[in-house]
Amino acid sequence: MGAGLGRRRLLGGLAVGAAGAAGAVGTGGLWTPSPAGAATTSGPLPDQVDVIVVGGGISGLTAARTLKARGAKVLVVEARDRVGGRVLNHHLRSGGVIEAGGAFVGPTQDRILKLADDLGVKTFKEYVEGENVYVKNGNRSTYTGTVPPDPSILLDAALLQNRINTMASEIDVNAPWDHPQAAAWDAMTVREWVAGQTLSSDTDTLLECYFQPSWGSDGGNVSLLFLAWFIATAGNEDNPGTFERSSGTADAAQDSRFKLGSQMVPIRMARALGDRVALRAPVRRIVQRDGWAHVHTDRGTVRAKRVIVACPPPLVLDIDWHPQLPQRRRQLLTNMPMGHLMKCDAVYETPFWREAGLSGSGLSHSGATRTVFDNTPASGGPGVLLAFVGGSTWKAYGRLPRAERKRAVLEGFAEMFGEQALRPIEYTEHDWTLEPWSTGGPIALPRPGTISTVGPEIRKPFGRVHWAGTETSTYWSGFMDGAVRAGQRAAGEVLDKP
Ligand SMILES: Cc1cc2nc3c(=O)[nH]c(=O)nc-3n(C[C@H](O)[C@H](O)[C@H](O)COP(=O)(O)OP(=O)(O)OC[C@H]3O[C@@H](n4cnc5c(N)ncnc54)[C@H](O)[C@@H]3O)c2cc1C
Repeated sequence: MGAGLGRRRLLGGLAVGAAGAAGAVGTGGLWTPSPAGAATTSGPLPDQVDVIVVGGGISGLTAARTLKARGAKVLVVEARDRVGGRVLNHHLRSGGVIEAGGAFVGPTQDRILKLADDLGVKTFKEYVEGENVYVKNGNRSTYTGTVPPDPSILLDAALLQNRINTMASEIDVNAPWDHPQAAAWDAMTVREWVAGQTLSSDTDTLLECYFQPSWGSDGGNVSLLFLAWFIATAGNEDNPGTFERSSGTADAAQDSRFKLGSQMVPIRMARALGDRVALRAPVRRIVQRDGWAHVHTDRGTVRAKRVIVACPPPLVLDIDWHPQLPQRRRQLLTNMPMGHLMKCDAVYETPFWREAGLSGSGLSHSGATRTVFDNTPASGGPGVLLAFVGGSTWKAYGRLPRAERKRAVLEGFAEMFGEQALRPIEYTEHDWTLEPWSTGGPIALPRPGTISTVGPEIRKPFGRVHWAGTETSTYWSGFMDGAVRAGQRAAGEVLDKP
C-alpha cells in the first residue's frame, strides 16, 4: 500500500546511488561530507564521528540537526530505506497527500511547529465545520462541541474530565514517580479507576474512542499514573496539560495538519543533513570501551564519543549491548511494548459529508470505526475519511483479511455519513504493528507498575549513550512535538560532554 509509493517518492528525493555514497566514505578516521548533499543508502560509513544518532525519525534527525548547527560531526544511522519512522506520507492515486502515521499538530506543540516553520512546511486547519456524528447501539445522532450529548454519559464525562485534570495538575512532568500517590495510581488500571468513578459503563466505552487512537491500547492496559502524566504532558512550560487539549480537535492536539504531509518535516531535515544520514544501516551492536562507543551497523562500524539512541523503546532491546544495558533499564524497556494501531482511509471524489452539514468527525461505541476524522488534503479534495483502528478494536479487526476489514470500515463510515460512503474511489490502510522498525504505534506504553518503579531510568544516560525518542519527552510524549523536544534535549546533553 502507501509505504511502497511513499518510499519510491522519498528515495527519488533523498537517496543517492553508490556513486554519491562513495563521496561520504572517510579514510583514516577523517570524514568529509560529500558534496552530493543527500542521504546515502549504500557504501561504507565513516570510521569516526563525534556523535552517532541511532534512528532517523523526527527525534533523531532533530538531535542531529541541533548538533550540526553547533559544529559537531554527526552521523544518523537509520535502519529503513527512508527517514521519518512513525511519520510516513501517503500519496493518493486521486491526488494529494495524507499520512499513514503521525499527522495532527496543535497549540503548545511549539517545538514541532517552529521546526516545521523553519523548514517551510506549512500547516492547515483540520475541518471542523458542521456537526459531528455519534453512534451508539445502532442509533445515530449528530452534535456540535466536544462531548456527545448522551444523557447516560454527560454527567460522568464532566466529572471525569475534571478529576483527570486535577490529578494531572499535581504531576511533575519530569518525575511522575515522585507524586505521593504514585505507587497507588500505578497499581490501578485506568479502566478500574474509571469503573469506580462513573455511573454508566457507557462512559468507559466512549473513553476508548480517545485511548485507542492516542495509545493503540485500551484503558485496561495502562495505569492511572500513566494517564495523569500523559495528560500533564499535553501542554508546555507555560500551559499545564489538560484532557481537553489532549483529546480535542480545534485549538487542541488535532487542530491542524501539514499541507505537504508530516513526513516532509523529516525529509527536509534529512536533506539539510545530506550524507550525514545513512539509510539501510540498522544498528546491531553497541560496544563501549577505551573511551569510545563502537556502533556496528549493516554498513560497517563507526566509533564516536557519544551515541544518541532515538529508536522506539522496545527496539533498543534488540541491539546487542556490550556491556549489557543496566538491569533496571532492561526492566523498563521490557515493560514498554508498542501499542496496536492502524489507520484506514477511504477516498471519495469530494468530501460529500460537508455538503450535508457534517464535519466528518465521528465517534462510535462499537465496530471498526470507533474514532473518525475528515482527512481530506489541504486542497479540499479528494474527500478522505479516516478511521483509527487501535487497541481492542485493532485486535478485533486488524487480523482480518483486508477485504473483510475494508467492508467493516466502509460500513462504519456509511452508518455515520450515509450510503455514499460504501463507494470510495480508493481505500488505503497502514498497520504499524507490521513495521519491523516500529513494531506498533503510536507509542510505547508502560505497563501498570512500571513508571513508579523503573520510570526514573527513562532519560538516564548509560556511559556514552544518551536517550531520545518521543517516549523520553516531558511534554507531548508520544507525539511529534515530544520527538522534537527529546531530540533537542539529548543533543544538549551530548554537547556538554567530552
Ligand atoms: C498511526 C499513528 C498516528 C499518529 N498520530 C499522531 C498525530 O496525529 N500527531 C502526533 O504528533 N503524533 C502522532 N503519532 C506519533 C508520532 O508519529 C511519533 O510520536 C513520532 O513520529 C515519533 O518519532 P521518534 O523519532 O521518536 O520515533 P520514530 O519515528 O519511531 O523513529 C525511530 C527511528 O529509528 C529507526 N530504528 C529503529 N531501530 C533501529 C536500529 N536498530 N538501527 C537504526 N535505526 C533504527 C526506525 O526505523 C525509525 O526511523 C502517530 C503515530 C502513529 C503510528
